[in-house]
Amino acid sequence: MTTEAGDLMPLPSSVDVVIIGAGAAGLGAAHALKDCGLNVIVLEARDRVGGRGYTVQAAPDVIFDVGCGWLHSADQNSFVAIAEQLDFEIDNTLPPWRDRAFGDAFLERDDFFRAIDAFYDRLDQAARQGEDVPANLYLEPGNRWNPMIDAISTYVNGCELDRVSVLDAYAYQDTGINWRVRRGYGALMAAYGAALPLAFNCNVTLIDHSARRLRIETSHGALTADKAIITLPTNLIADEALRIFPALPAKVDAAAGLPLGVDDKVTLLLAQPQALPKDGNLRGATMRTETGTYHIRPFGQPCIEGFFGGRYARALEDAGEGAIAQAGIDEIVSFLGNDFRRKLTPLAESRWALDPFARGSYSHALPGHAGDRAILAAPVDNRLFFAGEATSPDFFTTAHGARDSGERAASEVLAAIGRR
Ligand SMILES: Cc1cc2nc3c(=O)[nH]c(=O)nc-3n(C[C@H](O)[C@H](O)[C@H](O)COP(=O)(O)OP(=O)(O)OC[C@H]3O[C@@H](n4cnc5c(N)ncnc54)[C@H](O)[C@@H]3O)c2cc1C
Repeated sequence: MTTEAGDLMPLPSSVDVVIIGAGAAGLGAAHALKDCGLNVIVLEARDRVGGRGYTVQAAPDVIFDVGCGWLHSADQNSFVAIAEQLDFEIDNTLPPWRDRAFGDAFLERDDFFRAIDAFYDRLDQAARQGEDVPANLYLEPGNRWNPMIDAISTYVNGCELDRVSVLDAYAYQDTGINWRVRRGYGALMAAYGAALPLAFNCNVTLIDHSARRLRIETSHGALTADKAIITLPTNLIADEALRIFPALPAKVDAAAGLPLGVDDKVTLLLAQPQALPKDGNLRGATMRTETGTYHIRPFGQPCIEGFFGGRYARALEDAGEGAIAQAGIDEIVSFLGNDFRRKLTPLAESRWALDPFARGSYSHALPGHAGDRAILAAPVDNRLFFAGEATSPDFFTTAHGARDSGERAASEVLAAIGRR
């Protein structure tokens, strides 16, 4: 494991600002408040920073980002400069997603990309007319590629198109430049979080904002604060896993309109790796949505990474530990031949929907709910501030969008106390 686990630190009884969650958003907020002379603490339920950014050393020569891996929109991504400052090498090999897939599993690739590009054009047109309807309405009836277009939605949105708002999909900004952090995106977040005032294993259970000062109850006691920045994943806010008193039904409803979809990853150790291309793409021309997409030898490592989304990923999580790896091996074998069954060994897999402090992977707006991101992001009484990837107006679902949202919430805190 390349991330560092934190020790339990005694909680102060009172601070100026409490930040709840040490994922990208919480770290962005804490950095922005670092030199402001305020007494700040970040309360984190896990024993590590990074949240949905988490790097593990899956084998001596395989590092694996269990959560985020790509510096999306790298030319506008605030983690790029942070990586440079912290001396983390950036690999700017572009992703192989649109490349010809390895082998002959997907020879009709050009036909597929014509179909999906035409679908995206129809979506954009509908969004420009202000349609906040389900994206699947813009699939061409009877098109043979519809199941696979839906599979791509499960990778991008964490869910099938029937649950995706056309307007929200349109609001997402993607410059098309995607890079990676050689030592892992999660490892970069761990380094970014070092030296911040963090309390680990500290599960926040209640924010009471009924009195002049906020009272925060945690698994390690209570403290008071003037301001709180809340960065919890939307499913936890919607489920009221952290209770806010008096309740904020508008926030709960907005979070419910922005559920986290499910995406999971697996890394499989590959014997005789030289026989396969470095940073190659493997995908099958399947006529079903329940299919994985595979990255062969990322960074040239001796492994294949699989990626699964939507209802299929959720079903695999429910099927038990090891089901994701097994599904990946079975599918790769169906593309490349039986020989690969003995060449592949499961190393690590994620199960984000079952993770108690995430309950999913990244947010999408349900049809009719594109406006919920702004509702979730809005401060309450100049005392409760909200950050997290789901609050980003344009870089939602991403780690840099989360980080930037933390910075935005920190600037709202400073404005509220007259510092800006
Ligand atoms: C499989 C997968 C692949 C992804 N791929 C990419 C990618 O390639 N590129 C990209 O940019 N993004 C990707 N993402 C998304 C990205 O990881 C997230 O958008 C981002 O990390 C979210 O940051 P956050 O701070 O909003 O939330 P989180 O990282 O979830 O942080 C919230 C923190 O709050 C803590 N917490 C929860 N409840 C409590 C509580 N009650 N008390 C105290 N603490 C609590 C959690 O433990 C967590 O640390 C991926 C995500 C997944 C799951």
